[in-house]
Amino acid sequence: HVKERGRSDFRFYQRQMNIGLLSRMKLDHAMRQALEKNLFRMHYQPQFDLHTGKIFGVEALIRWNDKDLGEVSPVQFIPIAEESGVIVQIGHWVMQTAIRQAALWNQQGHTLKMGFNVSGLQFQQSNFVELVAAELEANNLSPDCIDLELTESVLIKDIDENLKKLNALAKLGVKLSIDDFGTGYSSLSYLKRFPIHKLKIDRSFVEDLPEDESNAAIVTAIIHLAHALKLQVIAEGVETEQQRSFLSALKCDELQGYLFAPAMSVEEFERHFLQDAHNLACHLRVSS
Ligand code: C2E
Ligand code: MG
Ligand code: MG
Ligand code: MG
Repeated sequence: HVKERGRSDFRFYQRQMNIGLLSRMKLDHAMRQALEKNLFRMHYQPQFDLHTGKIFGVEALIRWNDKDLGEVSPVQFIPIAEESGVIVQIGHWVMQTAIRQAALWNQQGHTLKMGFNVSGLQFQQSNFVELVAAELEANNLSPDCIDLELTESVLIKDIDENLKKLNALAKLGVKLSIDDFGTGYSSLSYLKRFPIHKLKIDRSFVEDLPEDESNAAIVTAIIHLAHALKLQVIAEGVETEQQRSFLSALKCDELQGYLFAPAMSVEEFERHFLQDAHNLACHLRVSS
C-alpha cells in the first residue's frame, strides 16, 4: 500500500512539475512573441515631491495584455523572464521606451524625472553602462533625467563588479535608487559604499501606517537613516490620507501611490498631469 501510494504521489508530483514547466515555456515563448510584435506597453505612475507638492517624475511600469492569457501582471511574468533570461531583451525595451518618452516630455517643456526598474541579469551585462549611455545620447537626454531602480539583492550579488558600474553610472550623472528598500539583505555597510541617491521604502512597510507599530518604527528609521546619509527617500504604495500625513510629518521627501494616481498610459498621464500646468500641483496638498 505504502509503495503504491508512494508511486502515485511521485506521478502526481511529476505531472505538477510538467505543468509548471510547460506554462513557463509557454510564457517564455509568449514573451518573446510579445517583444517581436511590440505588444508590451508602458504605464507611468506619478511621483510627488512633498516639499513643493508638485509632481517631479514618474516610474515606468511594464504592462502586458496577451491575446490568449489576458492581462498578465509583471509580478507574474518578470520573475519568469528573469529565470529564462528574456528579461535582458525586455529590460532593453523598457529602458529604450522610458528614455524615449522622457526625452519627448522634456522636449515639450515638461521637466520630469523618469524612473525605471532594472533587473539583475540586465544589470549584470558587461556593457550595461554603455547601453544606458548610448540610449541617452541617441535621444539627447540629460543623464540626470533618469533614475535607475535597483533592488538590494541585485546590488550585493557581486559587489566589486557592481560598484564599478554604479560609479560609472553616477559619474555619467544618472540617478540611482534602491527599490523595495528593507526587504532585501539589509547590510547597511553597502549604503555608504554605493553611489546611490535615493531609498525607496517598500510598500509592505507603508501598509497599515500609522497603526502598525513595527511598520511605523521601520519607516521612521529608514527616513532618518536616509537623511543622515544625505540620501533622498521616497515611499511607495501610499494609499491613504493617514499614511500621507504620517510620512509628511517625518519629512519623507517624495510619495508615490494610489492616493495620488495609479500607473497610467501616456495619453491618460498627459491628460491628467501635463495639459494644464495647474494640475501638476493640485493633486497634492502642500503639507505644513
Ligand atoms: P515596483 O518596482 O516596486 O513597483 C511598484 C508596484 O506597486 C507597481 O506594481 C505599482 O503599480 C504598484 N503600486 C503603486 N502604488 C501602489 C499603491 O498605492 N498600492 C498598491 N497596492 N500598489 C501600488 P506593478 O506595476 O504590478 O509592478 C510590480 C513589480 O514588477 C514592480 O515592483 C517591479 O518589481 C516589477 N516591474 C514592473 N515593471 C517592470 C519593468 O519594466 N522592469 C522590471 N525589471 N521589473 C518591473
Ligand atoms: Mg520600482
Ligand atoms: Mg518598489
Ligand atoms: Mg515594491
